[in-house]
Amino acid sequence: MALQQSPAADAPVLQVSALNLEYRTHRRVVRATHDVSFDVFPADRFVLLGPSGCGKSSLLKAIGGFLPSVSGSITLGGAAVTQPGPDRLMVFQEFDQLPPWKTVLENVMFPLLASGKAGRAEARERAGYFLAKVGLSAFADAYPHTLSGGMKQRVAIARALAMEPKVLLMDEPFAALDALTRRKMQEELLALWEEVRFTLLFVTHSIEEALVVGSRILLLSPHPGRVRAELNSHQFGIDDFGGSAFQQTSRRIHHLLFDEPETARDAAAAVKPRFRVVGG
Ligand code: ADP
Ligand code: MG
Repeated sequence: MALQQSPAADAPVLQVSALNLEYRTHRRVVRATHDVSFDVFPADRFVLLGPSGCGKSSLLKAIGGFLPSVSGSITLGGAAVTQPGPDRLMVFQEFDQLPPWKTVLENVMFPLLASGKAGRAEARERAGYFLAKVGLSAFADAYPHTLSGGMKQRVAIARALAMEPKVLLMDEPFAALDALTRRKMQEELLALWEEVRFTLLFVTHSIEEALVVGSRILLLSPHPGRVRAELNSHQFGIDDFGGSAFQQTSRRIHHLLFDEPETARDAAAAVKPRFRVVGG
């Protein structure tokens, strides 16, 4: 029997290939994504960017193992994704992701205990560690209803990271926050990533947010989602927001997302080699 080799450091953690997703109701079939392919590498901050309805949440659901594909494949660490697992944790937009009868600490400990990944003592230690990382040590014994929206999102992030997932999935996690809190959360997420270097797959329909949060961005066309282009965005950080290079790239992304394919191709050509337009 061949020895199992550990995956190379530069191998993708997550590979999505020619993924077609559909919803079938008794009346009709809704195509959510068409032939979507992308690779996420370790410590990428990979962003799926596209207008509402282009299939971003469907992609996350499929990667989470909750939505079977019509065709195509998803592999995580080389293994096919067929069902949900603790190696993929999701943070949602909604503020009610935390059971209200558990304290903040208990909320963060819960998946560790429920999955059998840690015993009580270790779960408590890990939960404490990640609560400190998101600046909520002082609120360990508080109940979720006493926290602000931003604080609840930080608990959800700590809860997910404590599980050390292969990839952290975030579905528009800051979309329901006010603009200032949202900016603050983006900043904190980047600081947390600097420290922990987790692999992030982040969904947003905000071009600005994609540029600030992402190191790589996949642009998806309106419904059904197809890959329009892929670009590197690690050169933009929170401090570049509003600068001229930032604005220029935002405009180009806007063209790529919404213009006819030929015009989009021209927009991409203007910023070669950082953009790679896919399909048409
Ligand atoms: P996004 O997250 O980019 O806004 P979604 O993945 O939620 O997009 O939806 C993609 C498409 O699939 C949309 O046209 C949406 O209406 C449709 N859709 C999403 N969920 C369902 C469902 N449960 N049943 C039928 N259609 C759905
Ligand atoms: Mg969505």
